[in-house]
Amino acid sequence: MNVLVIGRGGREHALAKKCSMSKRVQTVFVAPGNPGMEDVAELVPISEENHYELIAFAKKHNVSLTIIGPETPLVNGIVDDFKAAGLQVFGPDKQAAIIEGSKTFLNKLMKTYRIPTAAYATFTDFETALLHLDKVGVPIVIKADGLTDGKGVVVAHTKEEAVEALLELLVQAKFGEASTSVIMEEFLEGEEFSLMAFVNGKNVYPMEIAQGHKRAFDGDTGPNTEGMGAYSPVPQIPKYVISDAIELILEPAAYAMVAEDRSFTGVLYAGVIVTNKGPKVIELHACFGDPETQVVLPRLKNDLVETLLAVLEGKSYELEWDTASVIGVVIAAEGYPDEVAIGTQLVGLDTISADLDIYHSSTSKNENGEFVTNGSRVVLATAKGKDLLTAQTLVYKELEKIHEEGVFWRSDIGYRAIQYDFS
Ligand code: AMP
Repeated sequence: MNVLVIGRGGREHALAKKCSMSKRVQTVFVAPGNPGMEDVAELVPISEENHYELIAFAKKHNVSLTIIGPETPLVNGIVDDFKAAGLQVFGPDKQAAIIEGSKTFLNKLMKTYRIPTAAYATFTDFETALLHLDKVGVPIVIKADGLTDGKGVVVAHTKEEAVEALLELLVQAKFGEASTSVIMEEFLEGEEFSLMAFVNGKNVYPMEIAQGHKRAFDGDTGPNTEGMGAYSPVPQIPKYVISDAIELILEPAAYAMVAEDRSFTGVLYAGVIVTNKGPKVIELHACFGDPETQVVLPRLKNDLVETLLAVLEGKSYELEWDTASVIGVVIAAEGYPDEVAIGTQLVGLDTISADLDIYHSSTSKNENGEFVTNGSRVVLATAKGKDLLTAQTLVYKELEKIHEEGVFWRSDIGYRAIQYDFS
């Protein structure tokens, strides 16, 4: 069969690669993709917003399954449009994708269904938000209500940082519509992990967990980003905590969506913090995480396409996992998460060992056919090893071959696990 992946980043590169390994698949198309994906897929120059052109393409090329990567087309109803055209598609419809599209909706859902999360309040007015800040104090977490590519979150440890964040979001409208409303949330302390599951209504098929590093710089310092790297498994998280998170967060969230008449089909992603009162959710997303997908999917032993088809049919289905460890390091353009320049050549990329997987997020090719930067997160390099230390050593040894001009990466991805000795 032919498969179409919608999206253009590293997550979609990982989805396309895994689909290309499927026994069931003849051709993988990616729309619009990026030139780095040509190793596993055929690029289709149609943007994610052009639902009707994508549908026409899928029909013309006998696409039997379309997989939606990013959240924005989901929130804009791409699944509804594909289904209305009689096409098979993996992802939540518009009614269900609201779980990601509005933090206010999500927080209400979690309150109603007693899903453990941080205490919060929502504000649209700067002065009222300041009064609340005076009342609850710092540390506090301030989040834009709408979609901001992960950049609308500030963990404020001082009052000045909190006031600055509120000013930027509510008064200066840093994220436009998405920040006309802000959430002020209790600061939770503890180890974080990302838990994704394939979901169809009340059927939840959990994946292995990952830990992402969201801060820009080593030691988990600097501003929040969409993610600077990730690894899986996460040995410092005990198995019972993962089971608790499935039972207390993912399963109730899936049930809640059914009860609200917004039955969810797709991937539910929970960002979890392990507090001394148990796991609490800090974010729920309606799609695969980026870069978590790039470190979790390589550990999935099942055929991805068969898995997605089984989930769409609501079949009982066992996921099988490789015990190996995977670490992925993001190479980002200098200046990220603020403005970045594009067009820097990635010198040395072509000399990286074939033992690594390179997932392209934002690259294009220059006139000589060489890869250059085309956005903020550029590529993710992943290595697999028998344990995390082996994978980490391999990935950083190979990254030495890349010239650091115009780009940067964290040198400590995985350190939170590796600093412990689990033997
Ligand atoms: P989010 O975009 O909601 O995932 O938030 C980005 C990052 O901010 C998370 O990965 C956490 O490190 C941090 N964060 C978000 N919410 C909280 C919270 N309530 N308490 C502590 N840290 C948080």
